[in-house]
Amino acid sequence: FILLIITITRLISTVGKTEQWKSSSSLPIELSTNKISQNLINNPKAIEKASSDYGNLVHDLPAAVFNPTTVNDIVSLIKLSFNSSVPFHIAARGQGHSTRGQAMARDGVVIDMKEFRENNKKNKNVDNIKVFEDTKVGYYVDVGGEELWIDVLYKTLEYGLAPVSYTDYLYLTIGGTLSNAGISGQTFRYGPQISSVHQLDVVTGKGEFVTCSKENNSELFHGVLGGLGQFGIITRARIALEPAPKRVKWVRLLYSDFGAFTKDQERLISMKGINKNSGLDYLEGMLLMHQGPINNWRSSFFPLSDHHRILSLVTQHRVLYCLEIAKYYDHHSENNVNKEIQVLLQGLSYIPGFYYEKNVSFVEFLNRVRSGELKLQSQGLWDVPHPWLNMFIPKSRILDFNSGVFMKIIQKRNITTGPVLVYPMNRNKWDNKMSATIPDDEDDIFYAVGFLHSSGFDNWKAFDAQNREILQYCNDAEIKYKLYLPHYSTQEEWTNHFGPKKWKTFLQRKYEFDPRMILAPGQRIFNNN
Ligand code: FAD
Repeated sequence: FILLIITITRLISTVGKTEQWKSSSSLPIELSTNKISQNLINNPKAIEKASSDYGNLVHDLPAAVFNPTTVNDIVSLIKLSFNSSVPFHIAARGQGHSTRGQAMARDGVVIDMKEFRENNKKNKNVDNIKVFEDTKVGYYVDVGGEELWIDVLYKTLEYGLAPVSYTDYLYLTIGGTLSNAGISGQTFRYGPQISSVHQLDVVTGKGEFVTCSKENNSELFHGVLGGLGQFGIITRARIALEPAPKRVKWVRLLYSDFGAFTKDQERLISMKGINKNSGLDYLEGMLLMHQGPINNWRSSFFPLSDHHRILSLVTQHRVLYCLEIAKYYDHHSENNVNKEIQVLLQGLSYIPGFYYEKNVSFVEFLNRVRSGELKLQSQGLWDVPHPWLNMFIPKSRILDFNSGVFMKIIQKRNITTGPVLVYPMNRNKWDNKMSATIPDDEDDIFYAVGFLHSSGFDNWKAFDAQNREILQYCNDAEIKYKLYLPHYSTQEEWTNHFGPKKWKTFLQRKYEFDPRMILAPGQRIFNNN
């Protein structure tokens, strides 16, 4: 009798589920009869998750969530939409760490790449992060688009190897960061993450499974890298590896003068070492302001005993600039690394006495943001709104940006909470054939500036207003910036973002690989509703 009740309850719940998404006007009836329908869910919890992201500002409800168990499931789903008389939108959701709904699909289907990853883990026959050596290209890792960078790091370290380019935070998916660029302090030297990809497997907007590289199907390859999810779902990436260092010497220097700070940053990223391994491996920079704590969730660094003297300097100057560098080394080369750092720092103009250093393991350095995340999570402060603004600024205008934005707008509004990053990168590390967009300027260097705000649920609009004021200032001052992790509301803005030539290529690639405009509608490039 009990078994009968359980069976009836299960039947009712299945029928309820199916009816719910079948009745959705936005999904075609064929979906319900296809075998992949068993991978579709629309329970409130799944729908809620798929309609939220790290930004917590946009909430677009999908009609259903898709939990693939194989790449073929993704092929079938996209094919079904492509062949349907009224196609439905599909978005891959990596970790949902976008801030403006970029991984959402209103009334469409969200592919939950996290569930895909979990499904793979349960299946012991699937090894989704595999390391190889090739006589031509050297070491590389083949990794599923749904996997996390942290897992790639741990797996490759088992072979004494590691990728060369990272993001500051490693709990992001391969597919998600490669759809943007993937930048951090390593970018000036090793390029963005998209530049260390040899090959991709992609399921296009027509439901075709294509392997692509610079040599084969290069339009798709270049389109997808930095392509904001517009041309296909990345199901595998082949990423270059190098022998992994063991340790990291990590240094922070404080400046009160922005000109001196950027001059030193530019000098450091331009210094060519005497051999392949010399020179810095990482360089970033951030603002210290009285609006925010000295240590923040991105990293705690300054000793408690020094907080007072740093804070009084902040009060005196309103803003301090913190230059952050790192040099990798192995146990046996600690003396050499100390000497090299000394040579590199000779002649720099930081405030005397404001030099801080740490020696940490390679993993501790790369995974430095995680402890801050866990702390915020335990305080319930990780899932608050994040009205972030990330920009690329031409080197020729970075001093104007400082005087107009850091010294005026930010000071006047007095609301900044969270890290503000500013660091340079070398243009020649970016491949203009890829979709990722950087300033058109002639300069060999441009800056990444990130306002990584956390706000309350009731005051995020004040941060948004500040972001708009910053953009307005740049427009008025004719600072030709580009947004990183871009979000716009009109197609005219998107055209401006890419510039006429790149936009033309972007459109051609869209018509070729996703002609029915199915993929990644949350980017609001072709689906501005
Ligand atoms: P999602 O947000 O889920 O997706 C982003 C876009 O990619 C969406 O349009 C989605 O549809 C698409 N997409 C997802 N998976 C695939 C796939 N397999 N194939 C095709 N398209 C796909 N970025 C940096 O560059 N450097 C940083 O240092 C950095 N630090 C961060 C720190 C934190 C705490 C957070 C929250 C974000 C940070 N980011 C950084 C931003 C991050 O790179 C983006 O949010 C990026 O989108 C990756 O997140 P995700 O994997 O969750 O992708």
